[in-house]
Amino acid sequence: MSARVSLISLAAVTAALGYLVYQKKKKPAVPVYTSTRGYAGKDGKGLDFESTVLMGLGMDGGLMVPSFFPQVSAKTLESWYGMDFQSIAFEVMSLYIPSDQVSAEELRSIISRSYGTFRHDDITPIVKSGPEGTGPVILELFHGPTFAFKDVALQFLGNLFEHFVSKEGENITILGATSGDTGSSAIYGLRGKKGVEVFILFPEGRVSPIQERQMTTVPDENIHCIAVEGTFDDAQAIVKACFNDEKFRHQVQLGAVNSINWARILAQIVYYFYSYIRVVPKGSDKKISFSVPTGNFGDILAGYYAKRMGLPTDQLIVATNENDILHRFFSKGEYFRAPKVTETVSPSMDICISSNFERFLYHMCDEDATVLAALMKDFESTGKLSASGEYLKKCQNEMLSARLSKQEILGTIKDNYAKHHYLLDPHSAIGVGAAEKLRQEGKLTSSAMVCLACAHWGKFTDAVSEAVGSIRNQFPDELERLKSMKTRKQVMPATVDSVKQYLLAKLSR
Ligand SMILES: *Cc1c(COP(=O)(O)O)cnc(C)c1O
Repeated sequence: MSARVSLISLAAVTAALGYLVYQKKKKPAVPVYTSTRGYAGKDGKGLDFESTVLMGLGMDGGLMVPSFFPQVSAKTLESWYGMDFQSIAFEVMSLYIPSDQVSAEELRSIISRSYGTFRHDDITPIVKSGPEGTGPVILELFHGPTFAFKDVALQFLGNLFEHFVSKEGENITILGATSGDTGSSAIYGLRGKKGVEVFILFPEGRVSPIQERQMTTVPDENIHCIAVEGTFDDAQAIVKACFNDEKFRHQVQLGAVNSINWARILAQIVYYFYSYIRVVPKGSDKKISFSVPTGNFGDILAGYYAKRMGLPTDQLIVATNENDILHRFFSKGEYFRAPKVTETVSPSMDICISSNFERFLYHMCDEDATVLAALMKDFESTGKLSASGEYLKKCQNEMLSARLSKQEILGTIKDNYAKHHYLLDPHSAIGVGAAEKLRQEGKLTSSAMVCLACAHWGKFTDAVSEAVGSIRNQFPDELERLKSMKTRKQVMPATVDSVKQYLLAKLSR
């Protein structure tokens, strides 16, 4: 009798457990999103993934952050060994994307199409440089269509946008200003996408010839390149004015793809997990460290988020050029806006302030939106923000920093070419040089160090030639071909009206 009772109850327990597992499988909890300054949607409960991606910047000017970080256990991480990049991307992204907004099948298809445009089978290969692999370990992020790391996120974002736009049966107009890389990556991410029209502004005669050609040779009809007769700041001011015009914004369904978009950060989390699996042997308790060339703080933030998700991460290095607001923060606690950007040999990192840094500051004040909002309000009015004591220490515990001058950048390119036969572009050299600098200062631990390479040297041949003299490597065919392709752009005065009229005329076709 008692044996039968326990058998029955065992069956009941098994059934209950089975049901729980089933429930968990059916509906995994994904985060919702609130702004770093407190906006949590109309009902105050946070926004879902789709609304967050389509919104970009929070309604209160803050940045959207997830309500929690899904955890990847050691056991789960172990089960990812042997997977390719696309499968790891699926595993990481599914933790954030609800299946009723993007089904598993659709997500796999989006990932497969997004990374089908890459020239390397590994998508973001890990290269152990040097004849015997004794040089720096490099994560090459530049095998996408525009030869720069922004493709990793923007190829994904383009397909995700198309999916949402077709699901809602709407059209969207993407408007952005660029001084180089972002524009071409956005164009390649969005070319030919149904329901999406793209207008990219750049300053006439002020972007490098190769960057301009990457944008203006794209023949798809939904792509419009506008060269404004002014500076990058003029172009950016026009874009801002269009977004601030509520009526116009609504009329053309304006959207943005800038580096604060949550989906871009999410796509970048993937390669931190991927690196770990390729660099740290299975079953080892070794941790991993990353050195990240940093401008708007999107890339390294993704590394910090991977760590928060449970990736065994040791050190994160913020590597900057002479636009060193972040290095000043991490070394001295001073976050002061410089009066203007300094032009360097690494133009994609030439910034005055880092647009994603607010997310990090938010996490460092224990995710208290009230404290953060006050901090940012102060920063916006004075251009200054100081951190000291415990708060600064907390930030410094999460990240180290180093700054490289032009001479140091060129020196790093030269040394690595001579010693390790590896040709770095100036941005990638900043990551490698920063790790080397901190090693010499005795600040690195013994964990595995991976340096992120953000662009192909072929995009920055002037600086690279200056560093190494003659280049023996083969120049990429794809970049060579650009030189003879047909180009298309509309030159116009740097005024808000001329840009608005052009948009309206094109959209009413
Ligand atoms: C955008 C960019 C960076 C900086 O990345 P952030 O996410 O803005 O910090 C570095 N290198 C290259 C080549 C880039 O295009």
